[in-house]
Order: sequence, then structure tokens, then C-alpha cells
Amino acid sequence: MSLLSVRGLAVNYGHVEAVRGIDFDLAAGEITTLVGANGAGKSTTLMALSGLVKKAAGQVMFDGQDISAIPPHRIVAGGLVQVAEGRATLTTLTVRENLELGAYTRRDGAAARSRDIDHVFSLFPRLAERAAQLAGSLSGGEQQMLAIGRALMAKPRLLLLDEPSMGLAPIVVQDIFRTLKTINAEGLTLFLVEQNVKQALKLAQRAYVLENGRIVLQGSGAELLGDPRVQAAYLGH
Ligand code: ATP
Repeated sequence: MSLLSVRGLAVNYGHVEAVRGIDFDLAAGEITTLVGANGAGKSTTLMALSGLVKKAAGQVMFDGQDISAIPPHRIVAGGLVQVAEGRATLTTLTVRENLELGAYTRRDGAAARSRDIDHVFSLFPRLAERAAQLAGSLSGGEQQMLAIGRALMAKPRLLLLDEPSMGLAPIVVQDIFRTLKTINAEGLTLFLVEQNVKQALKLAQRAYVLENGRIVLQGSGAELLGDPRVQAAYLGH
């Protein structure tokens, strides 16, 4: 079943047609990735789902509801949550305070939030070790972990990630992708936008390739990893 379904999505910046009428589906419980080169329109697609840029055309259905015209804060409250860029953690607050802030849209009690912070710490033990440190003192990889943890604190039903691997060492990327796999195995649906095509296709059950604002290929992650066109354009074969 599709948790999110996008039809005919288009976004323009003035005369620049960044996204040119794309269709895709995110199956509940799966990891779907949208891969493509710099400037292909990936970030714009994510922002359109979250309601952060104006759509020129198209419809976004989330869990059977048309969210095409819903304001961003209500989209988040409905469970569609985008991970902020790692560098966007609040550097003058501690790790724990950043996580607490992630829960600000929730109405449930302190006990539930505290349980969820413990869960984030079990997913990212390095954050537990640094709970009382200022976020600004964390490494790039740890800040990315914190950004993911903070998004989890909003209790998402669908988590959107915009290039979580960007600027990180390969070993840190492995670590983060392994945790994304765990989070997905716990039942959360993920939509991962990546330029790190190889790692993203390995992780995702379903994948779409975006070029110049259009989806040009789609299939399972494994199919696209083995596709000669993907190998030639993105994997350096
Ligand atoms: P990147 O990995 O570099 O973020 P991307 O695939 O996410 O690339 P987008 O950032 O969505 O691509 O950009 C798609 C196109 O829209 C590009 O041609 C880009 O130059 C253009 N664009 C993005 N943001 C704006 C903006 N605010 N104003 C004008 N043009 C923009």
C-alpha cells in the first residue's frame, strides 16, 4: 500500500523548471530512494512534499489524504517529517535539549518523550555519551545523527532525509545507513534523497532516478544497481 503518492508534481523557480511533472509512490514500511546528480531537483521535490515550496502543479496524497495545499506545520503534525540538515542542529543547546525540542508538536506526556529519547540513545549510542554536551561541539557525523534523532522525536510516520551522507567520511556514512536500516526494520517508512547513489541503492527497496527534473528510471534498488545505464552515469563503471 502507498503511504505517499505523488502525481504530476512540478515546481518552478521563476523560469527555471526544477521539477517537471513527476509521479512516484512510497510504499508503507519501505525505504524508497530518489537519486540523481547535483541540481537534478531532489531537494526541491522534498521541499514540495513538506509544503516548503510552491507547487506549479501536482497532487500529494499522504495516507489517503490530499496534503497538496496544507501548511508545513500541519504536515509535520500529521507525521510527515523531514530531517533538518545536520548543520542545522541548535549548536548552543545540548544534545538532550535538541532532542526535547524535536517533540514540540506532540501532545503526549513527559514519560513518553523521555522513553523516546532513550530509544534515540539506543539507536545512536554516541549521542547518549554526549547527552549533556553542546550540539556545536559534535562532529559532522554526530550532528547528522542528532538531526535524525530530533526528527524521530516528532513521531513521524514518514521520514524524509535530504542527503544524510553529505560531507561525511565513508565509515560514518556506513554507520548512519546501518541505523536507517534499523529504523526502517522497526516499521518506519523512509524517503531518502541521495547523491551517494551506490549506498542509497543498496539500502533502498525501491528507487527512482531524477535527471533535470524528470524521473528517467525506476525499479528496485537491486535492479537499478545492476542497470548498465545507472552504472555508466552514476557508479563510474
Ligand atoms: P543538490 O544536490 O545540489 O541540492 P538537487 O537535485 O537537490 O541538487 P535542487 O536543489 O532541487 O536540486 O535544484 C533543482 C534546480 O533548481 C537547479 O537547477 C537549481 O539551480 C534550481 N534552484 C534550486 N533552488 C533555487 C532557488 N531558490 N532559486 C532558483 N533556482 C533554484
